[in-house]
Amino acid sequence: MLSFAPAAAIARRWGTAALNLVLPPRCLACGAEVEASHGLCAPCWRKLTFLAEPCCACCGLPFAYDLGDGTLCGACLRAPPLYDFARAALRYDEGSRGLVLGFKHGDRLHGAPAFGEWMRRAAGALLAEADLLVPVPLHRLRLLKRRYNQAALLAHALGRASGIKVAPDLLQRRRRTASQGEFGPEGRRRNVQGAFALKRGATVAGRSVILVDDVLTTGATVEECARVLKRAGARRVGVVTLARSLRGEP
Ligand SMILES: [Zn+2]
Ligand SMILES: [Zn+2]
Repeated sequence: MLSFAPAAAIARRWGTAALNLVLPPRCLACGAEVEASHGLCAPCWRKLTFLAEPCCACCGLPFAYDLGDGTLCGACLRAPPLYDFARAALRYDEGSRGLVLGFKHGDRLHGAPAFGEWMRRAAGALLAEADLLVPVPLHRLRLLKRRYNQAALLAHALGRASGIKVAPDLLQRRRRTASQGEFGPEGRRRNVQGAFALKRGATVAGRSVILVDDVLTTGATVEECARVLKRAGARRVGVVTLARSLRGEP
């Protein structure tokens, strides 16, 4: 089949080649030089664990066996989360930590398009009726220091991959909170209590909202965000993250 694509592809390759002379592409996780941009070196790629079904219908915790549609894990049965579902692309572990932290603190941002695609695949059909993607906000002082909000970059990447509209500042942080890493589950809940608010004049009544963040750990932060959205009348609140820790892991 005849196509005009090769010309464009060659131009793109030339452009990429010129850029590579200046900046050799780096592995998203370890920073080693790699052949292609948007990529990981082979050892880092092999260390990643992509999460897939079967999993808890609510929080997405992977199951070893398929227990049928709609099955919930023990934790979701005991205390249903305030969000309706959560899905993550990767297991947060030794294998993915470099990737996640490089994106959060290390200015290694060129993986965003791939992350958006991974997250879209992880959430699959759950995105079908979503109206809005909303990143978990950073406090403005922390934003000044860090220069970007990794959750917002992920929301935009997922927006491009899925076609769903992004509302980057729909949720706002009312006060600075200590890093969640310093607390256990109960402390994390208290730490973020009342920390979020809807942007003045914003409305989510009757809408299906997807919260986007980099890592889901205990879920205290996204649950607090979900509480604000539900109180404002959101019909459904889902959570999509790049990675999640599994129970009993940091
Ligand atoms: Zn690497
Ligand atoms: Zn669950």
